[in-house]
Amino acid sequence: MDIDIAQKIISPYIIVFEGSKSNCISKDLVSKLGLNEIDIKDFINKNSSDFLSVLDGGLGKVSLPTKDGNLLAFQSITTEFNETKLVVLSDTGGFNEFASDIGVDMLSSIVEGSSNGCVIMDKGTIIYTNPRFNKIVGYNPDEILGKPFLMFVATGSRADFISACTVDAKGGDDRPFSWDVILSTKSGRRIYVNMFGGWYKGHLLWAVITDITDRKKLQGSLRNVEDKFSELFDRSPAGILYLTPRGYIRDCNRFVCNLIGYNKEEIKGALFTKFISSSEEAPLRDDFGRLYTESTEIRGKQCELITNQGKHIIIEYNAQIITRKGHKIGALMMFTDITEKKALENELLAKNAEMEKTLWEMTEMKDALEARAEELTSATEQLRELNKKLSLLSITDGLTELYNHRYFQERLDEEVSRVQRYKEDCVSLLMLDIDDFKKVNDCWGHQNGDMVLKRLARILVDNVRNIDIVARYGGEEFAIILPKTDIEDAYLVGRRICEEIASTSFIIKDTDTAVNLTVSIGVATLKDDKNDKADLIKMADDALYKAKAKGKNCIEIWRRD
Ligand code: GH3
Ligand code: MG
Ligand code: MG
Repeated sequence: MDIDIAQKIISPYIIVFEGSKSNCISKDLVSKLGLNEIDIKDFINKNSSDFLSVLDGGLGKVSLPTKDGNLLAFQSITTEFNETKLVVLSDTGGFNEFASDIGVDMLSSIVEGSSNGCVIMDKGTIIYTNPRFNKIVGYNPDEILGKPFLMFVATGSRADFISACTVDAKGGDDRPFSWDVILSTKSGRRIYVNMFGGWYKGHLLWAVITDITDRKKLQGSLRNVEDKFSELFDRSPAGILYLTPRGYIRDCNRFVCNLIGYNKEEIKGALFTKFISSSEEAPLRDDFGRLYTESTEIRGKQCELITNQGKHIIIEYNAQIITRKGHKIGALMMFTDITEKKALENELLAKNAEMEKTLWEMTEMKDALEARAEELTSATEQLRELNKKLSLLSITDGLTELYNHRYFQERLDEEVSRVQRYKEDCVSLLMLDIDDFKKVNDCWGHQNGDMVLKRLARILVDNVRNIDIVARYGGEEFAIILPKTDIEDAYLVGRRICEEIASTSFIIKDTDTAVNLTVSIGVATLKDDKNDKADLIKMADDALYKAKAKGKNCIEIWRRD
């Protein structure tokens, strides 16, 4: 620090310390004390702690010896400047030195009533302030005048104040200049002020002071908002691009850099299309063209970016027009990386297709199985029919289609057991033999005999109830079981059959000959458990024998002889 300049800006009385040693004293101070500079330095260095004790920027009091052997008291403030410490002293005595300076009079009369604060300093010492300045700093004029201006400058702002004044003090011309400092008021408040002033007559510094605290605060909060915004912008988990209407990238956030692997400098100023697949260019231009002409936003569009490693990345983006004073000045594009999502989607689609195919194959298989099942069902049905036929066949006589002998025996067994179980019940049995059948065979042949047997069988069936069982007992003998039928009713049935057959003409095939036949019938009934099946057959057989013996074509009831 050039002590001469410092003396001009800060105060006539300055001691410069380097470390804890004073290495320079202003000329005005030396001449005021009237002592040799070396002696003064000696004194100061012996008492250096007194001089440096107010380093925190507060006010202190120090004393220096004079040539007449007294100690002269000064008010002091200490401030740091460019790695040196300046102890700035001010006279504690009254203030009146420059009151009559013509220049000061002129200056002060101009600024007296100004709504801005005004101050005039001579070598850094305040020699004039207007009421507005006093109000700003909250001191009375007598507390201000004669004090170094630096005293009212907040600690942290002193170096700035000195620097600002130094530059212009060196320049040597009288052009006004402007600088910002923080003042400290009597109540300890910090006030941002702008000082606009200049040098006058080489040693007077005048300044118009404007309180800019509100503006500074506003700027501070604006900076805060800006900081927050830029942090948000940069830290956003989505890509943000600010594009000019011609598609150049004006700005981008960190997400974009990380995603595509270029740094901001490489991205800013480049055409956005530089980072996309060439096939994507036309649709993108169309979309953005529409954005500027028709709408104000694009939503949910997709596009493929290419990283500097050549990797393809699919993004989903929204874009919005930015207008200023009614003009479309650009577009904000926000996007997310959906590459993985897209890959998953594709995988899912492939899986779906695979599943659909499997489902289709399964349906086909099911159809085939169902068809096979239908075939099986119908085969089972046929088998059942066949079985039915078989079982019918097994109980049927092949020629007459009546029940066969075996079945007759089974059914008679059941009926007899039933009667034996339920005492009030009964069953009748007709045994029937064709009279002189041998003659038929003899005259018309065995085949015609068979035909007659068939025809006669039908007559038997037609003349009994559904529940009655007509069976071929053997040869040309027949047996008819009449369940729940007593002897009288059985007799009537037998007689009806006798008459029916006797009145039937059996036509011999291929001839006009009609043959008449008769039958003999024996009938017996079982109505208690005294007799069994064999007894019943025997009784009916005996009765039949009797009928034959009586001359045939009749029905005979079994009677105990
Ligand atoms: P009757 O009973 O009145 O004493 O005289 P008949 O001539 O009927 O004598 P019998 O009952 O003994 O004769 C049975 C005859 O029936 C003998 C046989 O030729 C004939 N016959 C038995 N079974 C069949 C058959 O399946 N088909 C034909 N065509 N004839 C049969
Ligand atoms: Mg016979
Ligand atoms: Mg016979």
